[in-house]
Amino acid sequence: MSLEGVRVLVSGAGVAGPAVAWWLAEHGATVTVVEIAKTLRTSGFAVDFRGSTHLGVLRGMGVLDELTALRTRGGAMTCVTADGREIFTLPAEFAGGDLEVRRRDLSRVLYERSAPRVEYLFRDRVTGLVNAPDSVAVEFAHAAPRTFDFVIGADGLHSGVRVLTHGPETDYVRHLDYYIAGWDLPNPGVDTTPLQYNQPGRMASVSADRDDETKAGALVVFAAPRVDHDWFDTDRHKALITKALTGMGWHVPKLLDGLRAADDLYFDSISRVRVPHWSTGRVALLGDAAWGVTLGGMGVGTGLVGAYVLAGELARANGNPAALKSYEDRMRPYTTRWQRGANPGKFLAPATASGLWLRNTLFSTAFVRRMLVAGTATMATADLPDYQPQNDRRGSTTARWAATSESSSD
Ligand SMILES: Cc1cc2nc3c(=O)[nH]c(=O)nc-3n(C[C@H](O)[C@H](O)[C@H](O)COP(=O)(O)OP(=O)(O)OC[C@H]3O[C@@H](n4cnc5c(N)ncnc54)[C@H](O)[C@@H]3O)c2cc1C
Repeated sequence: MSLEGVRVLVSGAGVAGPAVAWWLAEHGATVTVVEIAKTLRTSGFAVDFRGSTHLGVLRGMGVLDELTALRTRGGAMTCVTADGREIFTLPAEFAGGDLEVRRRDLSRVLYERSAPRVEYLFRDRVTGLVNAPDSVAVEFAHAAPRTFDFVIGADGLHSGVRVLTHGPETDYVRHLDYYIAGWDLPNPGVDTTPLQYNQPGRMASVSADRDDETKAGALVVFAAPRVDHDWFDTDRHKALITKALTGMGWHVPKLLDGLRAADDLYFDSISRVRVPHWSTGRVALLGDAAWGVTLGGMGVGTGLVGAYVLAGELARANGNPAALKSYEDRMRPYTTRWQRGANPGKFLAPATASGLWLRNTLFSTAFVRRMLVAGTATMATADLPDYQPQNDRRGSTTARWAATSESSSD
């Protein structure tokens, strides 16, 4: 089983993109990643991995130790009143899973792991795809046209590949009535425990950066109907966020001061992606492009598991496109499990005063908090095959996938 001589284009250098690129290269493929941003994106917050399946894939990639050294140590989230009194604290395991790292660290580690054997094209994107029986002809915004054996759309919730293969985003991405934004700013006077303050339909959260407490990270969520805008128009996003949060009090005026100067803003709708078939011909979707739920809590874990399975199935089939269906058959039940009913906006920023009261009352109960932690750990677990990349191509002391069985005791 090998992908020797198989050429794959991956769109998106977020989390799933570099991961699938690495696994494909492990199986012998020649891989190019195209990323629309000029460098790796650095905004966003802590993301987490839960249970032995997620940790096993990280170990299989040989990045578990590096990420463990970068862990944020899962700070508990404390909900407070406007004058700083605690309402409830979410357990660290719920807020941070088994391994919590900053998204930027994760993306960088995966990029650095794959970069020696993968070609990266930044500041470019796919503009045309012709899916033929034996290959895919690709046009780029800047690079010259090329032909690949497979194209993988790992370009996130607003996937450009998905538009080209499946049609308009509105057919597949359901807006769940909330927006989310995150940015870095000078520390407004907080420590490293994330604090969260709510008013009906809006939430602001802030915590000091663990490596440099002169800096802080802000995360906000607010209820708003879907607005049509360019996903890359940062000034418009800043205006929408400012309008939604003005008058909120607490630390919010300082967060909005910081927003004006923020240079890498993370802004997205809270949405759920549902695509009936993840592949068409030789083009497949992966990660948020296929099954995303913004802030769904399991986006990075499922993205990495999907990367492992997609590359493994392609290798097992020696590059036969039928593998794309095997990948979907294996992954769809796993991703549907946690996608079902997920709407993080309703939990983070209940829209009404009574909804907010109900959430605060429920989460002040230790039993409910324990149930939450147990539920997410179970959802993250899956039995995965050992696709056995050939050892002679490995550039390092990467642990084999089989070693991940040890992680079940983690
Ligand atoms: C900047 C940023 C910050 C985030 N912060 C958080 C967070 O704090 N908490 C959380 O739970 N989740 C966050 N997410 C989402 C999280 O990364 C994903 O849910 C999960 O990791 C699955 O990853 P993915 O690789 O499928 O998608 P993503 O991580 O979204 O990566 C997609 C990549 O594709 C690129 N891209 C987009 N369109 C195109 C195009 N047309 N052509 C080429 N490239 C394109 C994007 O720039 C991005 O690098 C963030 C995503 C981004 C992009």
